[in-house]
Amino acid sequence: MSKDPRSKAVLGTTQSKQWPGSWDGKRNRIQCLKCDDVIEARHQHDFKYCKCGFVNIDGGACGHWRRGWKEGDPKAAYKELP
Ligand SMILES: [Zn+2]
Repeated sequence: MSKDPRSKAVLGTTQSKQWPGSWDGKRNRIQCLKCDDVIEARHQHDFKYCKCGFVNIDGGACGHWRRGWKEGDPKAAYKELP
C-alpha cells in the first residue's frame, strides 16, 4: 500500500473555528490545483483526499473547516469553491 496517497505526510494545514465572513451558503469544498479534483466535507470528520493526494479537507460541521496540502504555497495547492 505504499502508493496510497494517505500514507504521505501532510506538510501544511490550516484550520479555523469559523469561516471568515458568513458560513451560510458556503459549502466546505476545495479544488485541487494539481489534479482539478473537487472534494467536499459534508460533516464533521468527513476527511477526504483529492485524487492525487496533494490536498485534503476535513470538517464540514457548522463553522469549522480544515485544509491540508503537501507542500508549498496553499494558494498554489487548492482553491476555495463557494
Ligand atoms: Zn489533487
